[in-house]
Amino acid sequence: MSTFTELGLNNNIIKALTDLGYENPTEIQEKAIPQVLASKVDLKAFAQTGTGKTAAFSLPILEQIDTKSNDTQAIILSPTRELAIQIAKNIAEFSSHMDGFRVAAVYGGSNIDEQIRKLKKGVQIVVGTPGRTVDLIKRKQLKLANVKWLVLDEADEMLNMGFKDELDKVLAVTPKEKQTLLFSATFPREVESIAKNYMHKPVEISAGQKNRGADKVTHQYYVVSERNRYAALKRIADVNPDIYSIVFCRTRRETQEIADKLIKDGYNADALHGDLSQAQRDSVMGKFRQKNLQLLIATDVAARGLDVTDLTHVINHKLPDQIESYTHRSGRTGRAGKEGISIAIVTQREKGKLRPIERLIGKKFMSTPIPTGKEICHNQLLKLIDKVKDININETEIKDFLPSIYEKLEGLDREELIKRFVSLEFNTFLTYYQNAPDLNDSEHMQGDRRSDSRGRSRNDENMSRFFINIGRKDKLNPAKLIGLINDQKISNNIEIGQIEILDTFSFFELDKNYTDETIAIFKQNDVEFDGRSVNVEITEKKRSGGRRSGGRDGGRRSSGSGDRKRSSDRKPSGDFSRFGRKRSDNKSAFFGKKTSKRRKG
Ligand code: AMP
Repeated sequence: MSTFTELGLNNNIIKALTDLGYENPTEIQEKAIPQVLASKVDLKAFAQTGTGKTAAFSLPILEQIDTKSNDTQAIILSPTRELAIQIAKNIAEFSSHMDGFRVAAVYGGSNIDEQIRKLKKGVQIVVGTPGRTVDLIKRKQLKLANVKWLVLDEADEMLNMGFKDELDKVLAVTPKEKQTLLFSATFPREVESIAKNYMHKPVEISAGQKNRGADKVTHQYYVVSERNRYAALKRIADVNPDIYSIVFCRTRRETQEIADKLIKDGYNADALHGDLSQAQRDSVMGKFRQKNLQLLIATDVAARGLDVTDLTHVINHKLPDQIESYTHRSGRTGRAGKEGISIAIVTQREKGKLRPIERLIGKKFMSTPIPTGKEICHNQLLKLIDKVKDININETEIKDFLPSIYEKLEGLDREELIKRFVSLEFNTFLTYYQNAPDLNDSEHMQGDRRSDSRGRSRNDENMSRFFINIGRKDKLNPAKLIGLINDQKISNNIEIGQIEILDTFSFFELDKNYTDETIAIFKQNDVEFDGRSVNVEITEKKRSGGRRSGGRDGGRRSSGSGDRKRSSDRKPSGDFSRFGRKRSDNKSAFFGKKTSKRRKG
């Protein structure tokens, strides 16, 4: 392995790298730096996020930049604002000992005049998003006539995001005699055609094999039924008390829905997607970077450029439509030499999508059972014990209270005391997961379940039961009821459970994650059936076996919103609920001493 000095970098750069704690070059740096220093030939690099690619293209350019000239000598294009800011920040750090050097990031959603003012001062390297770069070129504020290097970072993402026209426009105003460096994690046809049209006989380098997943990432999958997808996500979070993860969803709506549910259920989570304003996105990303959030629910696009190096997990709440996106997602963990886990939550039907991904990443997914309540309790209990071991004791303050405490605890031995203190926190958690069902959806497990005539499991904790004021006399049958529910468009593929049609009213079960939405949407749509105005209300679950006394449904209905979210849906309170909202401003409350130490190390 070479050192940075051996790669040909000068002392000012080496000093900055030492400040940053970079000891040795990464594989892509080892390959790209000498190549760009020694040759003007274009470069095509296969590199994932997290491989150190930013330094791989920035350092050799910085080494050759003319700080005596105020001309823009390098333009770096990146798909998102966040990534552009991150690259510019890295370059500023790498150049901290270089006098007369300036770098600027230009991106949309931010005041253009301020960016123009910066450019006017003379900036040797500009990092920009394609849209804003073109805008500044059109306004004649960004002049690329003297550019010696053009970097296309995450080229596949830029093309995925529809920036082909913008790339063409930027490429058209740069001089012919320049070196183009193209970095991409995947090389679909569109990227190859950019390389073909705009690069001249490029040298190819790669860190690891083409399109291969980052080396330190383990890939796992969990098989669940659609209605248990969310419950599985919660269990994954619960069994990993120190989880720090991005949960990827496919659409903005799904992202917001999952984040809302997690927040309601007491998790320390938030959403990141394109429907949020820039200020909201900045705030969420800030909180996540600071580790004030443990779970970031995000779309692929919004999460790009979020430079977080120590994610413990990446969770695919749903697999991406394009398999290449999986590489980008999983590449967010296992960075900078750390280990990471990429999880896919899939239904039996979606299992087939894993094969092509395995071929792409060159690794196998491990089938993993969804954690049981017992495993979760075990891990949470150990976390509590760690916290007890790590707690700071305020000897001075506690001293005065100790005599009366000892007096009260007299007669209890060590074992008894430990059990009692632990139970104080643990009982709520234990109760929450007592009798928690098995969520794994596999053939043999399904055989164990008691199913109704429609093949759906009965007494399912993940379903809510609804009363509807129409029945057989209104010519309602199960098919018509399913049609009526689907017509309301509560959510795509919402799981419908048991249906019971009686003479003048009926019952149906739906995924309980949509309880509030179901009530609200039926009300809002002013639904009519066969000339009758339809009324839907939540009812208590029917207990299996035996009739219940009470109202016409043998159960109790409640339409007050306060009752709808049953307390059992929420994370248990007590010290285990480290996700608790009231603590969300307190970083150390979520990441106990042990984690902080790990982060620093
Ligand atoms: P990148 O792939 O450029 O996004 O880099 C991923 C992470 O690795 C960033 O946090 C970098 O600061 C870090 N990094 C890059 N190169 C090195 C290196 N040679 N030594 C240590 N950390 C590095």
